Parts: sequence; C-alpha cells; structure tokens
Amino acid sequence: MSLNNIQFELWKNCTNGCNFCFNKGLPCSSEEDKIRILKEVRYKLVRLNYDYYDKIGFIGGELFGNQIEDEEVFREFFKLFELCIYLLQDKKINQINFTSNLLAEDNSKMYQILDMIKLSGLLNRFELCTSYDSKYRFNTEEKERIWHYNMLYIKQNYSDLQTHVEILPTQDFCEKCLSGEFNYEWFKETYDSAIDYSDLNSGFYYKDKFEMEEHVSGFFPKRATFLKWVKTGLENNWFRIEDICNYNIFFNELYMLDNTNHFIQYIRHGHDKQLPYGRINQSDYIDSDILMYDDLQRIKDTMHG
Ligand code: SF4
Repeated sequence: MSLNNIQFELWKNCTNGCNFCFNKGLPCSSEEDKIRILKEVRYKLVRLNYDYYDKIGFIGGELFGNQIEDEEVFREFFKLFELCIYLLQDKKINQINFTSNLLAEDNSKMYQILDMIKLSGLLNRFELCTSYDSKYRFNTEEKERIWHYNMLYIKQNYSDLQTHVEILPTQDFCEKCLSGEFNYEWFKETYDSAIDYSDLNSGFYYKDKFEMEEHVSGFFPKRATFLKWVKTGLENNWFRIEDICNYNIFFNELYMLDNTNHFIQYIRHGHDKQLPYGRINQSDYIDSDILMYDDLQRIKDTMHG
C-alpha cells in the first residue's frame, strides 16, 4: 500500500500580492486564527494514524515573510516544528516539507526554526519548497535578487536541508527557455535543487482562464509553444517527462482553510477536474481545451513504447 503525503494549509496570508495567486481574493487569517490553526494542526498530528502517512507538509500563503512575527504565533509555530522532530525521531514519519516564497529580506524567524532543526541533526529530513518565476512573482528585478540571495544563503548555511523549486511553465517561461534567456545549466548548478513543473490554473479568483489571461497576460502557454518546450527540454536533458505535472510529489490529502478559516479536507485523485469551493479546474493552454496532462500522458506512452 502506498503511503500518503498529508498537507496542512496554515494560512493564506502573503504580502507578495501575485496577480496569479491561487488564493487571490480569499480571506487571510488574523493572529488569533493562526494560533488556533497551529494548535489544531498539532492536535491532529498527535492523533494521526501513521500507518497511512509518510510525509507531512505545511503550505501557505507564505509561512515566513512577516507572518510569524507575533510572539505567540511564533511560539506555536516553533512547537509545531518541535513536534515534527519528535515524529521523525520516533520513526512515525519520513519527511517534512514546508513552503516559502523566499522573498523576505528579513528571514530571522525562519533561521531560528532551521537552527533548531539543525541542532536536532535532522535537517536532511526537511525539505524547503519554493518557486521560481520568469515574470509574475518576480515582478521587479529586486525581488528576483532577494530570492537568489536567500537561496544561496540557505545553501551555504543549511546545506543538509533539501530544497525543491517549483516552476510554472507559463508562455513567458517557455519562450525564455527556448530563446536561451533562461539558462538551465546555470540554474541547476547554482541552486542544486529538485525542480518540477506543475500545471497552470486560474485558481479561485477568476471566472475562468480567459478572464485571468486578461489580467495576467502571457500566463497560460499556447499549446504549440508548450509542446516545443517539452520536446526541446527532453532532447537537452533539461528535465525528465516525470518532472512535469507529477502529482505524486504533491499532497494526497490536504487540509485547506475555508472562508471562515476552518479546515476542509480535500483528497486528491491525480489531475482533478473539480476543485474545492465548487470550482472547475480551468487550466493549461490558452488556445486549446486539450489538457496539458493528457498531452504529457501521450508523450510518456510514446516514449515508453
Ligand atoms: S508568493 Fe505565492 S502565496 Fe504569495 S501571493 Fe505569490 S503565489 Fe500567492
């Protein structure tokens, strides 16, 4: 029986304000909400049946960047990571992953957590999941510079921490790869991280991908560009076909926050067409209704014979 990756959304708060954010327009959590949520997650983790799980993940919003400055929030956050260390030591779980956009200039709270994990000797069982973006998240050069600095700082000071970079294959990103403006070799060598690509989605804010495209122009790729990017990427060993739309690396089970900051459980079944909040998955290409996932399956089938 394969074991599950359970994730908890701790809050939707983030100050980066990306126009494409899945959580755009959804309510944030107050400091009181955060304290209650963190306690509730600990309560769930203490009572979880670990026969069914091997990874735990924490996602936002943004978990650091000015989100855990409040003393009590920080205390609860710290306790959550202490519990994770205990769960790893007790062999109840194999890996913990947590997300950060790494766009804050002051990461002292994150480093306090990482220092505590480092002291336990279990830093290599934690994975920091971040995102790289060729246009929309780094909407100023300064933001890209901060991300770059933070990644290198973490690599230097917490070298045992695993890192994972998620990239959205937007039209802009695919074009920059094909033109050579994005240098794969440099990126891989510099950041030394696992890289994967997820499909694109209009999230909860926009009516559909066409409305989103009006506000975030060039976000969804054209099918021909995407397929050319996949072909070129495979030929040049930029990635493996398994690195694109691989749902196994994400959650199987997610506790996400609803409009009142209470958990709803979402069990993922691969490429779900129906999302929580009653939204339909409006994803992938701007100029075709064929799903990226289906194209990738066809390419995989051809490759494997
Ligand atoms: S950095 Fe991430 S969480 Fe923050 S607004 Fe952008 S997409 Fe949303």
